[in-house]
This record gives sequence, structure tokens and C-alpha cells, in this order.
Amino acid sequence: MGDRVILHSDINCCYASIEHLHHPELAGKPLAVGGDPEARHGIVLTADYIAKKYGVKTGMALWQAKQICPDITFVSPRMDLYLRFSRMAHEIYAEYTDRQEPYGIDECWLDVTGSSSLKGDGLLIAQEISRRMKSELGITVSVGVSFNKIFAKLGSDYKKPDAITTMYKSEFKQKAWSHPVADLLYVGKSTNRKLALFGIKTIGDLARADEDVLNSHLGKMQL
Ligand SMILES: [Mg+2]
Repeated sequence: MGDRVILHSDINCCYASIEHLHHPELAGKPLAVGGDPEARHGIVLTADYIAKKYGVKTGMALWQAKQICPDITFVSPRMDLYLRFSRMAHEIYAEYTDRQEPYGIDECWLDVTGSSSLKGDGLLIAQEISRRMKSELGITVSVGVSFNKIFAKLGSDYKKPDAITTMYKSEFKQKAWSHPVADLLYVGKSTNRKLALFGIKTIGDLARADEDVLNSHLGKMQL
């Protein structure tokens, strides 16, 4: 049996990118979506790349973001609008596969194993999706192309914004092994702490670790 072909598409700074489309006057200026800007309370839900360069992060208090990025504009979230974009993205994805698995509003796995011979290989499909998201929706995505969900997701996180990264079997070791194990989906803070106790800091360390030891200390996880 051949490998599966899995894409993971992630809309870059989703809420902030959509708000930029609707606020052309803020082009090139830092923007963050979150809280209640009038009342100056609440937290940042998404910052654009300009604000991120100043150190603005998701979860940060608005007043704090303003302190490190004085020119920032805050916009109240409009979930209906973001959901509409999400649906439009899924309509584009649906032209390449009926096997979609959304992950939040802005991310989605696509199993294109069955369609990859008809529509070109996984990389070609990723390129076409990326081009269409830009021309039809006006937003950029990062896409990972791999043989399973975990490495497809790692691929979409690998390079941002507006990028495509393959994580094929022949190359994922070279590309992924030196990355922190916390970059892996499902490795949260507590798992990360436990792994560190076993000296597991990178994805490569985890891959080389003894499976029985991991199972007895961390429990099994179905992927
Ligand atoms: Mg995203």
C-alpha cells in the first residue's frame, strides 16, 4: 500500500488577516483582534505579523499589548465573519477531497490520498489551494504536506506566513528531529515537563526513546 497524502492548511493570523481585509486604512499597521477595545479590557485573541514583531501575543492583556506596541489598533472580534471565511475555505478544500477534518476555525486536515492522482500530487494540490485562498479569499495559508496528520501539522507550523512545507518520509527526520518536542501536536506543557524528566527535549529524542518506558509513564495515546 502506498503512503497516505495528508495536507494541513492553516490560515495565517486568521482573525487579524480577515479584519485587515475589511480595514484597508490599516494596511501596513499593527492590528490585533480581541476584547472590548472601547473599554480597554480583555485579551488579544489574534495579532497580525506586524504586532507579533513587537512581541504581542495571543492571551496578552490589551493594555499590555498597547504598552509594547503603541501604534496598535484593536478590533472587536466578529465571529460570524470569521466563520463565513472558514466556510468559504472549506468549500475550496472540498474541491480536492471530501475527507476534511477541521481543527478550530482556521485549520483543517485534508486527506487527498484518493484525489492526488487526479489533481496532481500533494504538493501540487497544496500550491493550488494556497493560490486560490489568496486570489479568491484574499488571505494566506501555510500548508504542510505529509504522510500523516502529525507531520502535516508540523509542516504547516514550520514556515509562516504563506508557505508550503513538505514532510515526506524521505525528509521528515532531517527537517523535524532537531525541533523541540513541544512543537508536536498533543505535547502540551505537562507532557513536555514529563518528557524533559527523561531527557527528551527534541522530536528526535522522542522518536529514539524506549516505547515501553513512555507508555508506562505517559499512558498511551491514540493518534
Ligand atoms: Mg492559524
